[in-house]
Amino acid sequence: MGNSIVDVAIDMSKIELENVTKNFGDVIAVNDVSIEIYDREFLVMLGPSGCGKTTTLRTIAGLEAVDAGNIIIDERSVTHLSPADRNISFVFQFYALYPHLTVFDNIAFPLKASNVEKTEIESRVLEVAKTLQIDVSLNRKPKQLSGGEMQRVALGRAMVRRPKAFLMDEPMSNLDAKLRIQMRSELKRLQKRVETTTVFVTHDQIEAMSMADRIAVMHQGEIQQVDSPKEIYNKPKNLFVAQFIGSPAMNLLEGVLESKNSKLVLSLFHTECSFVLSDLMAQKVMQQFKLDKIVFGIRPEHVMLSKAPTGCQFESKIHFIEYLGATKIIDVMLGENIHTRTPIFLKSRVHSSFQGSIGESVWISFEEEVIHIFDQGSQIAIQ
Ligand code: ATP
Repeated sequence: MGNSIVDVAIDMSKIELENVTKNFGDVIAVNDVSIEIYDREFLVMLGPSGCGKTTTLRTIAGLEAVDAGNIIIDERSVTHLSPADRNISFVFQFYALYPHLTVFDNIAFPLKASNVEKTEIESRVLEVAKTLQIDVSLNRKPKQLSGGEMQRVALGRAMVRRPKAFLMDEPMSNLDAKLRIQMRSELKRLQKRVETTTVFVTHDQIEAMSMADRIAVMHQGEIQQVDSPKEIYNKPKNLFVAQFIGSPAMNLLEGVLESKNSKLVLSLFHTECSFVLSDLMAQKVMQQFKLDKIVFGIRPEHVMLSKAPTGCQFESKIHFIEYLGATKIIDVMLGENIHTRTPIFLKSRVHSSFQGSIGESVWISFEEEVIHIFDQGSQIAIQ
């Protein structure tokens, strides 16, 4: 297979967005977005519906003219070039092949549309089909293909033009859950093999986490954080990213940081929970933050429960148990909001062997290094 990858020899490319803004009337769809998408990278744009992912992708493709900013591909500004002159391929929904055409004709379609010579078409389709390992299926129709093979044909149709980059907008959204999981790993493997810079848009965080080299999290037209999936998960830069990534979501509870007896104490509102930060953590926090209201964050898998008190822990009661097979999600009640009378819960993900029943007392503990602290005003992470 190695040879055929070299044969396809798609240009390598880097895509840069510099302060890109796109408005639709009063709606700021993309707001001053700057990002560098590295050569051969698999970058996933992730965010809730309406956050501006598709519009950003369409500005890269040239399907939307920008109101401000620049788009640069391989050090050349393409901001004012037509889509055809940018040499970038949109990969459409993976199921959207022409059903009446063979695999060969589906892949050849963009070349035929551009009047490429017949022998050139044949050799390019064959190269691409070999790379994607679908050369034995060239005479079949889409309905005779598996989901994975259809995905390869859709990719082949984009590759055959030898684009500088692939742009994919929720290509798996119409597939059933099982097929999506299979396609995720296959697409990631293929992208690494064909070595083409790829920008993939999704609102599905699992899709993003499992495929991306880096994820760009978007919200309200702005990029919130660009990092590897691991960094995004472990070190969210602000409250939006913290609550958007992870399922169940990170526990977020309001509280305050105060200085008491030359120690830094974190207390959670409406609960009895309050704990002293280590000197090391206190020093780190104090460097970036003046004492004020905070939001305390902890992922459910970091909330440890035990049936008996040992050391510095908080007692609470089990409110609800969700059995998930390998793990259980246990909601424990920490207190009650004195203004709204709504209970304050913490979710804990424990091994399914954990025994406990609703109403029973449990003791909560956690390691200091896994906690997150956000400035309540700016919503920026300070730890
Ligand atoms: P989704 O996941 O729902 O597709 P998205 O993150 O891709 O959402 P966009 O489609 O880029 O978001 O839309 C961003 C904002 O711009 C939304 O408020 C949307 O309603 C608006 N918008 C997008 N395209 C147009 C258009 N052609 N005319 C007017 N408003 C638009």
